[in-house]
Amino acid sequence: MKITTNSVVSVTYKLNSKPEGGEEKFIEEAGKNNPLTFLFGVGGMIAGFEINLDGLAVGDKFNFSVKPADAYGEKHPDNLVDLPIEAFKNEKGEVQRDMLKIGAIIPMQDNEGHHMRGIVTKVGINEVTMDFNHPLAGNHLRFEGEVLAVRTATADELAHGHVHGPGGHHH
Ligand SMILES: [Zn+2]
Repeated sequence: MKITTNSVVSVTYKLNSKPEGGEEKFIEEAGKNNPLTFLFGVGGMIAGFEINLDGLAVGDKFNFSVKPADAYGEKHPDNLVDLPIEAFKNEKGEVQRDMLKIGAIIPMQDNEGHHMRGIVTKVGINEVTMDFNHPLAGNHLRFEGEVLAVRTATADELAHGHVHGPGGHHH
């Protein structure tokens, strides 16, 4: 059967990302022993990924690129935030200078307790600039892989909006 809305799909993939005008970089891969299994067409994946897999069948290979707008979006300047250096103090009240390296990813919480990860982009005496854009925002993504399995989702899976069994939820 062909991949369509409400199919349960298993694929291998290798993901490379490339910023505008930059070099392509390997990000992650899922091989035959740990394929990506997901419910197709319910919005759980980036749009550009599903558009390119739509209609493929078991054994089909793919290699396509997705522009930022159809992946994690463009980097948004509003997501660059200057935080007071006090935000990086430990329990003893000491600023943790060793973790404030350009490019370091730091887990943080906003005022409402939402967890988010920021990338350190600038370190000043009194302020640190954090980038809360998705790490792959502004990147073109290239997916290369193969369709391993396609089946119709069960009624339970459709009701829950996710896959059950191997590669999915066990409950
Ligand atoms: Zn479930």
